Amino acid sequence: MSKNQEKNDSQSDVMDSIVSLCKRRGFIFQGSEIYGGLAGTWDYAPLGVALKNNIKKIWWKRFIDDRDDMYGVDAAILMNQRTWEASGHVGGFADPLVECKKCQHRFRADQLIGEDGKPSSVDAPVKKCPDCGGSLGEIRQFNMMFKTHIGAAEDASAVSYLRPETAQGMFVNFKNILDTFHPTLPFGMAQIGKAFRNEIAPRDFLFRAREFEQMEIEYFVKAPKDTKDDGKSEDAADGWQKVFDDFRQQIHGFIADIGLTASKVHELEVPDGERAHYSKRTIDFEFDFPFGKKELYGLAYRTDFDLKQHAEFSKVDLSYYDEETKERYVPHCIEPSFGLDRTVLAVLADAYTEDAMSDEKRVFLKLAPAVAPYKVAVFPLLKNKPLLVAKAREVFATLKAEFAEVGIQGVAFDDNGNIGKRYRRQDEVGTPFCVTVDFDTIEKSAGVTVRDRDSGRQERVAEGELVGYLLGKVK
Ligand SMILES: [Zn+2]
Repeated sequence: MSKNQEKNDSQSDVMDSIVSLCKRRGFIFQGSEIYGGLAGTWDYAPLGVALKNNIKKIWWKRFIDDRDDMYGVDAAILMNQRTWEASGHVGGFADPLVECKKCQHRFRADQLIGEDGKPSSVDAPVKKCPDCGGSLGEIRQFNMMFKTHIGAAEDASAVSYLRPETAQGMFVNFKNILDTFHPTLPFGMAQIGKAFRNEIAPRDFLFRAREFEQMEIEYFVKAPKDTKDDGKSEDAADGWQKVFDDFRQQIHGFIADIGLTASKVHELEVPDGERAHYSKRTIDFEFDFPFGKKELYGLAYRTDFDLKQHAEFSKVDLSYYDEETKERYVPHCIEPSFGLDRTVLAVLADAYTEDAMSDEKRVFLKLAPAVAPYKVAVFPLLKNKPLLVAKAREVFATLKAEFAEVGIQGVAFDDNGNIGKRYRRQDEVGTPFCVTVDFDTIEKSAGVTVRDRDSGRQERVAEGELVGYLLGKVK
């Protein structure tokens, strides 16, 4: 077995372990599982919903609530088909597809590696099917949008698409925001929502799915005075470069908020020629997933491309009147874009840890308290002692109420199995602290024990100090 092979095996082992933990502990299930599943879809279970909601909340707080220049929207998934003509998705949003003539399996051409070590292309196509050895057909372009029809008619005028990105729902509402809130530049619009892509080969768990969630911002700035603006002109100080750099820092701030290991995130400056034609600068934020370094977030300067396209296709004026300069122009746009399910996967993969505790192998999720589904779990030492159970219930109710007062959810009660099993279970779902009510709690008023997930150490904390002690650690 080659070194590379070994490495790949251990990486896929980690992914298998994560997928299986997610199912076993109720984070994420395969979509439509009882029918054999539906490829590229995943269902969030209670703990996955809590984890995802925590991430959304942190994102919304940092990028919308804590600022006064952001406008949140929640646009419809189905949009007028002209939207996607203007955005370029009808004409250009395609992947190279190739089909085996023998077994009819379909592949994304650029994911087939030829004998020369390069991805299959029209110039140098891979001809042999990796599944059956049969011959592969011609590479053709496959549009990734899910097409549907609105109403009873099935003619061309009734065509719509499940949106492949949330961004366009903001551009089409740009004028509505101007007319209702009268913001002055710079300002942004933000949205969290579902998007759909008919991936030829969904893979890597949540990483490449057909239905997923995005968190996106379209931030509008003044048009640069000099269109060849290279960042060195006087205009640059309050121009797009400063905004771009602010968002770059904010993205790192968000990565810290959700507890991702900073050294696993890498910036990739996308070079000229590889960016979309309208983008003047793009940085991809890549993360070290178990299956390799892959894109997590993107930050792009999209110029005035989107608003100009929509103005042209809709015949609606999407310019902005600048009271300061008495000029009318189409604003330029900076777009920070975040994959939400990819974030969930990055958080899970980063947190997944195996170690040994009391000479026993253990698996735990080293989740930051801010994203953990449960912050605290409360147990009675023994399930069959009514006094212990009643006291533990009382501690649980107090913690739940006090946490709710400061807007924190995620206090659990657990009396299933023995205490060792409960610790293991809470470790596996990433609960940072476990509180146990024992006989000393009742007989000697000696407080409760608080166990730390990562070190396994236990401390006695007086009952009256418990709320403050825990809030200090999870806030
Ligand atoms: Zn085949």
